[in-house]
Amino acid sequence: MLAAVTRSPGLMVLDEVGDPGPPGPQEVILRPEVVGVCGSDLHLYSGDVGALSGARSFFPRVQGHEMSAVVEATGQDCPGGVRTGDRVAVWPLRGCGRCYPCRVGRANACVSLELVGIHRDGGLQQLLRLPASQVFGIGDLDAESGAFVEPMSVAVHALARAGIRSGQPVVVLGAGPIGLATVLAATAAGANVLVTDPVAARRELATRVGASAVAWGSHEEQLAAVHDWTRGRGAPRVVDTTGDPATLAQATEMVCSAGRVVVVGMSAAAAPLRSGIFPEKEIDVAGSSCATADDFRAAVRLVQAHRDKVSLLFSHRFPLTRAREAIECVANSPAEVVKVLVVVGDQAS
Ligand SMILES: [Zn+2]
Ligand SMILES: [Zn+2]
Repeated sequence: MLAAVTRSPGLMVLDEVGDPGPPGPQEVILRPEVVGVCGSDLHLYSGDVGALSGARSFFPRVQGHEMSAVVEATGQDCPGGVRTGDRVAVWPLRGCGRCYPCRVGRANACVSLELVGIHRDGGLQQLLRLPASQVFGIGDLDAESGAFVEPMSVAVHALARAGIRSGQPVVVLGAGPIGLATVLAATAAGANVLVTDPVAARRELATRVGASAVAWGSHEEQLAAVHDWTRGRGAPRVVDTTGDPATLAQATEMVCSAGRVVVVGMSAAAAPLRSGIFPEKEIDVAGSSCATADDFRAAVRLVQAHRDKVSLLFSHRFPLTRAREAIECVANSPAEVVKVLVVVGDQAS
């Protein structure tokens, strides 16, 4: 079978590899259909592994952690909900079960977290073996939308960390795929959302998926926009999806006193912050990593309910044979790139 293998940073090649064989107990064999490419794929592809969880050996790796797939075979003792022929989305996360975060029910922050497509082989291949516990049925959802369940689960988790309420003003920094998923999930929960992003087309998309306001400009202009929008109070919730460390300082200025900032975007870089602003405004800061199984289930429902809006986010499609171009398309990040998809299914025999 075919696999797109990232052999070393910057080197992704199409290889003929052995198939995974029959599933073991509580395992499934999947036939990936559509795989989304995202910023963390780019961190791995470019060798910027400092931005990823865990210092481990990453290469060679079959990437792809955002995927829809069809269940090809099920092993013994699989949970009743997973049947051969079902279309599923993959919750890419596996915790160790022993560390403090795992023991308190937060495997998404596990100290030795393993993610499909990052620490283990992922969806950019024709067949994939996984524990059945990482597979969630998506009913009649189309394969492209199914590949967006994983990024949606990241947004759902970020909003759980933010603790948003209906009618509450929420500022979302960045209108990339995670930012746009956050806008969609927040507005579906009844929040009022203002989005900042330098790209006009992305601000326009943010409005189409539910944002009530958008802003861009200098640091001061963005801050002024948030203050106007909240009648001078600042926003009770700010979600930073940019992965740009410089925006964290901006988030602390946009958030109101007693408000909360959630950081979703990943970066290995440092940024200066005025630490006194935290006690002055008594700001909560919450990191948000991946998503729990409950978030993933909620994301399935959200994508099912809003598939029309989700489909607006798919900007580019490549077959598996051109997976390298897909990742380079994200890397070169022309303004028109939102969510890039690799259609794996077309290659299947
Ligand atoms: Zn992703
Ligand atoms: Zn753990």
